[in-house]
Amino acid sequence: MRVMAQLAMVMNLDKCIGCHTCSVTCKQAWTNRAGVEYVWFNNVETRPGQGYPRTYEDQEKWRGGWRLRGGRLTLRAGGRFKRLLSLFANPKLPAIQDYYEPWTYDYDDLISAPAGDHVPVARPRSLISGEPTRISWSANWDDSLAGAPELTQQDPVLQRVSDEVRQSFEETFMFFLPRICEHCLNPSCVASCPSGAMYKRTEDGIVLVDQDQCRGWRMCVTGCPYKKVYFNHRTGKAEKCTLCYPRMEVGLPTVCSETCVGRLRYLGVVLYDADRVLPAASVPDERDLYPAQLDVLLDPDDPEVVAAARRAGIPADWIEAAQRSPVHALIKDFRIALPLHPEFRTLPMVWYVPPLSPVVDKLVETGHDGEDVGNLFGAIDALRIPVEYLAELFTAGDPRPVVTSLRKLGAMRAYMRDINLGRPPDPAVPEAAG
Ligand code: SF4
Ligand code: SF4
Repeated sequence: MRVMAQLAMVMNLDKCIGCHTCSVTCKQAWTNRAGVEYVWFNNVETRPGQGYPRTYEDQEKWRGGWRLRGGRLTLRAGGRFKRLLSLFANPKLPAIQDYYEPWTYDYDDLISAPAGDHVPVARPRSLISGEPTRISWSANWDDSLAGAPELTQQDPVLQRVSDEVRQSFEETFMFFLPRICEHCLNPSCVASCPSGAMYKRTEDGIVLVDQDQCRGWRMCVTGCPYKKVYFNHRTGKAEKCTLCYPRMEVGLPTVCSETCVGRLRYLGVVLYDADRVLPAASVPDERDLYPAQLDVLLDPDDPEVVAAARRAGIPADWIEAAQRSPVHALIKDFRIALPLHPEFRTLPMVWYVPPLSPVVDKLVETGHDGEDVGNLFGAIDALRIPVEYLAELFTAGDPRPVVTSLRKLGAMRAYMRDINLGRPPDPAVPEAAG
């Protein structure tokens, strides 16, 4: 057992209201600079939707010369010459149009407009070319296009669910999915960097880019399946979410966590066995990836783990932090939080509590959200957000862990409702919570 410590995050999707405060405060702190105008280290996607950059989840489209072999990222081309060629070619990069061409407005047009019958309009101007531009795509464009199925239907996750779910999404469901870099245990961005500029810190697992070492190959952009490395077109270097390490090092939370309006982000320490990372990333069946990823995480209360962590030089306050960690509890003890796209095999460390959407028929019938335990057991298929869609996002298509998580959430809600209404809690609740 080789124990290491990792900073991880859990986001409770039931509480996200899609206000984008996290994105805006992150941008103010980290990417409010020339060269990264189009960059959102934190973005919030409307699901179903294409995401940012659009269709990033379509791995065949973006993988380029890379392929996964035994959990490791390798170049598809064989032989030294082909390898060199593919390094130069690196053709599968998202274009600026896939992120969006950032713009500003000519506010002088408003200020200096002559008095007239109509309100003056400020025209958009590209922040890259400086020329007048037409706005046709942007981060979370799907939100602005609510009810435009011809675009939203291009969601790569929606392509993998049944026809029934795909056709019904318009009238039935939407939710928000905030995303940052996953600070993966098996980071393919690090594996794909030819300059050795990308690295994972041993003390806390944060993945960073050494700006002095970066040569602008952009292999990391191709290699990251979540598309969470960005190219600064002014400096010619890669940049990414730093998990606000300068703040974390002095005991402050990340900017996105601190400013989150829904208070839905939990930060904490988890302990993991570094020797289990590659075997877990290599399990043949995609549906085994979520349990394999769980197995990599260690019980911080186990005396053997604590002794091994001490021997590995993990400070005592970090071990204590792992024992108190809400993140560890939500992921491993309660099994409520799930990883995003475990089938990408990078072992992501930002986990999500899936949204428990109200049961539609009960909502209509009773006027309240119908999440009493009995209803939930009988009507898990009637949740507004189809389990099938959530399973494609979080468990490589296996519905069972999603259903387990939703049942526990429903039981917890029913229990709290009884308490808040001064009723004795339903005795079926502990059974429902598993
Ligand atoms: Fe690297 Fe992408 Fe994983 Fe972040 S999400 S650590 S950029 S592979
Ligand atoms: Fe969601 Fe919080 Fe971001 Fe608002 S600030 S969009 S509630 S994650």
